Amino acid sequence: MRKPLIAGNWKMNGSAELVETFGRAFAEIDLMSVDVAIHPPFPYLDAARQAFAATPLKLGAQTLNPLDSGARTGEVSGQMLAEFGVEYVLVGHSERRQLYHESDEQVYERVIAALGAGLKPILCVGETLEERDAGLSEDVVLRQVGYVMARLEPGQRQQMTIAYEPVWAIGTGRTATPEQAQQMMAAIRGYQAGFDRELADALRLLYGGSMNAGNAQELLAQQDIDGGLIGGASLKVDDFTAICQSAG
Ligand code: PEP
Repeated sequence: MRKPLIAGNWKMNGSAELVETFGRAFAEIDLMSVDVAIHPPFPYLDAARQAFAATPLKLGAQTLNPLDSGARTGEVSGQMLAEFGVEYVLVGHSERRQLYHESDEQVYERVIAALGAGLKPILCVGETLEERDAGLSEDVVLRQVGYVMARLEPGQRQQMTIAYEPVWAIGTGRTATPEQAQQMMAAIRGYQAGFDRELADALRLLYGGSMNAGNAQELLAQQDIDGGLIGGASLKVDDFTAICQSAG
């Protein structure tokens, strides 16, 4: 039985006040049957660690550099994140792939660095609208998944979560239908089963792309969707708690 994970990606949004608001709201909420993580911008991680201490909220980061330390101005390493109580880290978000030109190889290097620092990577994959229209969705997604997963040791694969986020659904208000999302999740799990059926059954697969309080229940009811990666709706405490409750 896979425990659902709801991860809130604040991107370059939020404030110290929002961190406090989430800390207060989640101190009142019982979330035994779902894991919930918030991924705030780096400067809020320490405040979030303190504000979330008495809540079920876990801490996530949005990216990391593949190196442990060194001359990489503006970057943050996995070890630094671990020191601040971070448990999950997004790797290969489509905004990083597109705006910062992160290649599959660079995504893989970040996954290895995250695992080395004891973090749990959430590997983000997804096709663009052009790729979907060209009938390439599954090829693109399985290439992104395979580039990383096929090169990991079994023990490393167990630490992984995969988030399927169709690029055309991120921040657009356009959500994949539950059937489209389920179809891709089944393909990812099927691909993984080619390596290790037990691991494939245990692997958490998240859907991301304009998930909100109104559509979460239907998406999360799909057999192979084990949670959500939430952008916009994770900045509104009421919407985000409603999504978490749909998963629980
Ligand atoms: C995301 O950025 O991962 C995301 C899913 O964003 P949104 O929910 O706003 O589409």
